[in-house]
Amino acid sequence: MARTCELTVDLDAINRNLALVAHLAGDRAVLVAVKANAYGHGLVEVARSVEAAGAAQWLGVTTVPEAAALRAAGISLPILKFSITLADQLADALAAGVAFTVGDTDAITQLSEAAAARGVVAEVHLKIDTGMRRIGAEPEDALRLARLIVHDPHLRLGGIYTHLPVSDVGSGAEFTRQQLAAFEASALDVQAHVGHVPWIHAANSGAVMSHDLGATTMVRPGIMVYGSYSGPVSSRSAALEPVARWSSRLVFVKQVRAGESVGYGRTWTATQDTWVGTVAVGYGDGYSRLLSNCGRMLIDGQSHPIVGRVCMDQTMIDLGPATPTARVGDEVVLMGRSRGEEITVQEIADLMGTITYEVTCLITARVPRRHIGGVSRASTN
Ligand SMILES: *Cc1c(COP(=O)(O)O)cnc(C)c1O
Repeated sequence: MARTCELTVDLDAINRNLALVAHLAGDRAVLVAVKANAYGHGLVEVARSVEAAGAAQWLGVTTVPEAAALRAAGISLPILKFSITLADQLADALAAGVAFTVGDTDAITQLSEAAAARGVVAEVHLKIDTGMRRIGAEPEDALRLARLIVHDPHLRLGGIYTHLPVSDVGSGAEFTRQQLAAFEASALDVQAHVGHVPWIHAANSGAVMSHDLGATTMVRPGIMVYGSYSGPVSSRSAALEPVARWSSRLVFVKQVRAGESVGYGRTWTATQDTWVGTVAVGYGDGYSRLLSNCGRMLIDGQSHPIVGRVCMDQTMIDLGPATPTARVGDEVVLMGRSRGEEITVQEIADLMGTITYEVTCLITARVPRRHIGGVSRASTN
C-alpha cells in the first residue's frame, strides 16, 4: 500500500555527516547519540547503518529500552547510557550491556551489587558536573568516586565525562572554555592517581563544531549527525547535509470564496476567491499546531502557506486563486526539498519558537520511517 505521510531518512547522509565529525575529531573516537529514536530518525536503522559503515565507535542512549532494542537488533557497538539508572532498572541495563553513567556514591554501590549478583564487571563512565548542573559529581569529588570504582572488582572505570550547556553559542565560548579546562584538570588528576582511563569526553555537536577538543579521546555529537546545527554558531566549521525529508499527500482540493473561513476556530478568512488544498498531516503526526497560519508546504517546488489551524490529522494550504495544477494524491513536502525549494528543520523550528532537536523528536510513531541508502538494502517500518 502506498503511504500517505512518511519520513524518508537518508542513511548515507548520516554517514557523510559522521565523516565530517570524524574529520573535526581527528584521532578521537566518535560516539553518536541515538537516544529518542535517533532524534526521531529511527533508532535501530540508524544504529545498524552506522555500525555497518564503521562510521562511529560508540552509541549513546538514555533509556534501558533503547539499549535493549539495539541489542535485540543485533547491534554490538558499545553503548553509553547517558542517564542515571535507578536501582530497580540496573538488572535490565546490565542485561543490555550498557556502560553506566554514575555521579555519586550510592549509584556506584548499587551498580556494584547488581553487577556482582549477575557475575559481570560493569563499565562505568564517571560524570563530572562542570556547569550544566543537571547530573554528575562535583569536580572535587571526582577522585574519591574514581577510587571507589577502580577498587571495586565488579566495576571498571571506562570513562570520565562532562556536558556543555552553551558550546553552541558564541556568547558561551568563555564559559565552555572554562568548563573544558576544569574538566581536563579533573580528568588528569584522576588519571594521575588511578591510572589511564580510556574515554575522556565532553564535546556535543556545538563543541565539535567550534571548540578545541583538547586532551579528550572521544566526541559525543547528536544533532549535527542528523544534519542540523545545534545553535546559531557563526563559525560553522562543517557543511552538514540534511538527512530527513517529511512528505504527505494532497487529499482534497476545493475553491473557497472571499469571506469564507477555513478550519477550527475560523482563524483564517479568504480575502479573495482561492483554491484550498487539504494535506494528510496534523499534530497527531507531530506536525505542530504552532505552525497554524504561519508554516508552509511545497508541492512540485511551489510554496503554499498553511491557512487556518493545523488539525490532528489534516492541514489546509492555500493553492492560490488560479485553477490549481496540483491534484489529489500529489506529494506535499513538509520538510526537505521539492525541486529547487527547501524547507529546513531550522525553518520549522524557528516558526515554532523551538530548536531543531524538538522538531524531529516530535514526529510521532504514526509516521512511517523509510530508510534509504546505507550499507544494507533500503528498509521501511
Ligand atoms: C544528547 C546528548 C549529546 C548530544 O548532543 P547534541 O547537542 O545533539 O550534539 C551529548 N552528550 C549527552 C550527555 C547528551 O545527552
